[in-house]
Formats: sequence, C-alpha cells, structure tokens
Amino acid sequence: MKKHNFSPGPCILPQQVFEKTSKAVLDYNGIGLSVMEISHRSKEFIEIMENARTLALEHLGLENKGYKALFLQGGASMQFLMASYNLLEKKAAYLNTGTWSSKAVKEAKLFGEVIEVASSKDANFNYIPKDYTIPPDVDYFHCTSNNTIFGTQLKTLPQTDVPVVCDMSSDIFSRNLDFSKFGLIYAGAQKNMGPSGTTLVVIKEDILGKVSRSIPSMLDYKVHLDKDSMFNTPPVLAVYVSMLTLEWLKEKGGISAMEKINEAKAGLLYTEIDRNPLFKGFVAQKGDRSPMNATFNLTDESVKEKFDTMWKEAGINGLNGHRSVGGYRASMYNALPLESVQVLVDVMQEAERTA
Ligand SMILES: *Cc1c(COP(=O)(O)O)cnc(C)c1O
Repeated sequence: MKKHNFSPGPCILPQQVFEKTSKAVLDYNGIGLSVMEISHRSKEFIEIMENARTLALEHLGLENKGYKALFLQGGASMQFLMASYNLLEKKAAYLNTGTWSSKAVKEAKLFGEVIEVASSKDANFNYIPKDYTIPPDVDYFHCTSNNTIFGTQLKTLPQTDVPVVCDMSSDIFSRNLDFSKFGLIYAGAQKNMGPSGTTLVVIKEDILGKVSRSIPSMLDYKVHLDKDSMFNTPPVLAVYVSMLTLEWLKEKGGISAMEKINEAKAGLLYTEIDRNPLFKGFVAQKGDRSPMNATFNLTDESVKEKFDTMWKEAGINGLNGHRSVGGYRASMYNALPLESVQVLVDVMQEAERTA
C-alpha cells in the first residue's frame, strides 16, 4: 500500500511522475533506450533540459524578464558558497532564520564581510524577525523563504534596492510571490520539485559580473549560463523527473492552484494542532507558521509510544521532527494530497479519544 508520505526531503512526488519515470527508465518515448543511457547532447535530452528550464521560469512568471534557469549539482548547500563567490565583492546582508541560513552565513564569510541584519537564534529560530534594515551599500541581501527544520516561513519580503538572494528549497512553487523582486533564487530539487541530485538556480543575468575575483568554471554562474546548463554532464535523471513534476504542476493549474490546496492542507492540520489538547505547536510562532513544514509535539509525553504506533499503522511515513528539534514535523509539499493530511488528523483525534 502506498504510504502517506510526510517526509521532509527527499519527499513525495506526484504518483504520475513516478509512473512516467519508471517507463522512461526502461524505454524513453519508445526509442529503445533508457533515459539514463542517452547522451546529454542528444536531441532528446536537450529537449528535456530546455523544457525544464522554460517551465521553471514560466511557473515563476519570469519569462522574458532577464532571468535564466539552471539545473546544477551540489545541492542547495553548494549555492551557499556559489552565491557569495559570484556576488560578494565587499559585504552582504543576511537574515538568519534557521540552520540553513546559518550555514549560508558561514560560507559567505569566506568571501567578504557579512552583516547579520537580524537573527532569531536566541529563540531557537521560532519566529521570523521583522524589524531590521538592510544597509543600502551591500552587494546583496540573502534570506531563506521557508525554514524546513523549524517550520517557519517568511510571509513578506523586505523592501530593498539591492539584489535579493533567496534559498527557496522547501517552498518553491508552493505559493505566489512577486518573483521579479529576486535577483537569485535557488532550491534543492528534493523538497518540492524532484529527486535529490539537482538544484534549480534562477538568476537575473544583470546581477552578475560585478565581482573582481576569478571564479573556478564549475562555480561560475556565467559559465553555466553560457552553456545552457550543460557545461558538464548534467544529472539527467534528476532533471527529467523535475521536468515531469513541473509539467504536472502546470496540469494542476500552476502555483496559484497549488497555493490554495496547500492552504487547505495547512489549515486542516494547524486547526487540529490548536484544537486537540493532546498536541501543541511547539516551535513556530503562530503568525510565522509554514504551510510546508508543520512542527508540533505531544502535550503528554507518556502517550508517545502509543501515538507513534498509531500513525505508523495508519500508513504514515516521515513524521519525526528534525533531530535538532525533536517532536513531530509534517511536511506537506505540493504532491502530498489533502487526504493524507486528513488521515493524520484522524489519527490525532483517535489518539485524543483513547489517551
Ligand atoms: C534541505 C535544505 C537545504 C540543503 O539542501 P541540500 O540540497 O541537501 O544541500 C538548504 N536549504 C533549505 C531551506 C533546505 O530545506
């Protein structure tokens, strides 16, 4: 039986994507070859790559606006350093809202001065700081749109004239934002877009070329842009699966349609967390809660063993909180159906009745 998969990443993808992928792994479009054994220079793969790059820009409303999309390797973690390598000449401003932001800060410090404009570290990252100013003379401002581990999300973007660099790994394509406000967006595929092994990078070309250092080819955005994301062998299968997921998203009505479903899913679960006396939201402050990753815990630890057995028996997977936080975390990415959230809510109610 297919599980209700609340895994934080790698995570659930649409069933039709798994099915199409399994066919293409055996025989891609009836050409007698697996998608994994064709040349990345073949017309078949060039079409896949171009389709994936175009769909990404289309979904974000960034076509013909000076942006290009790349599918790179090294995860979002590689982007922590690549962004600074390519953009940080003197100093950059960072908003520190969690583990991933902190790691991005650490890498950026290798390249220049980092101004942490605000941090919620003292409160174990349970909220998103709002009152801060971004100095006008920094090379860019970096933020994390969704804090996967703590379950908080940036609801509004700060006003600034400097390029905004954003790690959207865990909420890209889940909600509408004015994406043209960003200079650079990056996202590891495995949270909401595809399998692990590739990272989407969306870049406004005019923010490049402003640093004086020389950049190794593999870490240079311009090199990858000039080669249409094919400077070296791309992760062909990961790009193909991401493309299928982006096609699925289009069939579903795009980001706006997805945002409505995501709000319904999050509404259902958070309402239960707040209503059910056996549970509490224990990390994220209410106004900053993420619709993608909901962190919660039991109010009575003595029922933990029983509750854990119950959700596992209901076919739920991946509900344990991050090891640094504990408790539970329900990751409700695009491909997770509302029915799965209903199953979790039913288990929570059953736990309440039998506690
Ligand atoms: C998972 C995650 C990362 C790290 O991604 P990798 O692809 O494993 O490097 C970075 N940022 C955020 C917000 C994440 O959720």
